[in-house]
Amino acid sequence: MSQLTLGIIGGGQLGSMLAIAANNLKISTVVFCDDINAPAQNFSNKFIYGQYDDKSKIDDFINKVDVITYEFENIPYKTLNEINRIKPVLPKPSVNRIIQHRIAEKDFINILNIRTTRYASIEKKSDLNSMGDLLPGLLKTVTLGYDGKGQYPIKSLEDINSLNIEYSDGYILEKLVKLKKEISIIITRFNNQKYEIYEPIENIHEDQILKHSKIPAEISDKILNQSKLWATQIAEELKYVGTLCVEFFIDRNDNLYVNEIAPRVHNSGHLTINAYNVSQFENHIRAVCQLEQIPLKKNSNAKMINIIGDQITIYRNKELAQNEFFFDYLKKEIKNKRKMGHLTILTD
Ligand code: AMP
Repeated sequence: MSQLTLGIIGGGQLGSMLAIAANNLKISTVVFCDDINAPAQNFSNKFIYGQYDDKSKIDDFINKVDVITYEFENIPYKTLNEINRIKPVLPKPSVNRIIQHRIAEKDFINILNIRTTRYASIEKKSDLNSMGDLLPGLLKTVTLGYDGKGQYPIKSLEDINSLNIEYSDGYILEKLVKLKKEISIIITRFNNQKYEIYEPIENIHEDQILKHSKIPAEISDKILNQSKLWATQIAEELKYVGTLCVEFFIDRNDNLYVNEIAPRVHNSGHLTINAYNVSQFENHIRAVCQLEQIPLKKNSNAKMINIIGDQITIYRNKELAQNEFFFDYLKKEIKNKRKMGHLTILTD
């Protein structure tokens, strides 16, 4: 049988780690990205630079691969759908269409009787005037926001006057949850009712960017079981194939809420590379390439630290202890707030 070639759309660190996992399974990779400096080109077998609507570049990409996946959710649905007509795209593009729109995503979750924060669609400034009971809240763009980008805290109706935003872009107002903790569940769905699910990961954010993740999460058994159940229900309802992350809030009264779904491998799951027998990346590749499903086994507890901005220079020169694993994303430019690498520390 000829060797399988996986196409990966998106060339950031998630694409890099997917390419490494694929290569370890003897699957070759072609990364397609609209950033000429995409770091994943350092780890893939081939790299195609092009815009996501460049038909001839996309055709070239399709011709070079057998199956396609993606490392971030903001790829135009149209592009994914057109590719899917010719070669299989997994997870399927319709999943992406729901999840890349914050309101469609929350509507979908609520239909499953799973709790989210309370929210409302905001299409014009005057919509905010009747939203007093959602305050204090966060106003977010319905598409394209991440790591706190496109998010505006609103404490009172007066705050609205100082906002300088284009309402026609589409916004959602979410009631602020009084957070006790944030956790995530990473789950890989292979087929009907066939899963590998990692234990809940506890996440600490600073300035809306993930700073640390750790297992075990310090949570009650009730939250542990509910978060796993909800993540499984979401993956099943989406008929998802591949690795998915569900991010949760826990409030001060120990209520669990789904914050959002990431239809991809996730930053909080980097520690699975060293802490488990099969990482979230390998599981994703196994699911989308229809390889054998291997039961998950945790080898160690762990903590992961995101290395942001110029902190990377310290880590590049650091001597590592035996239980420390450093991953440099090899990004060309160091930028403030940019994720440059991570360190996983195996703990007892
Ligand atoms: P998001 O991009 O929506 O995941 O938001 C990034 C981070 O902002 C979250 O991980 C939380 O720390 C914080 N955040 C976002 N929405 C809310 C909310 N409704 N209530 C409390 N904190 C929030």
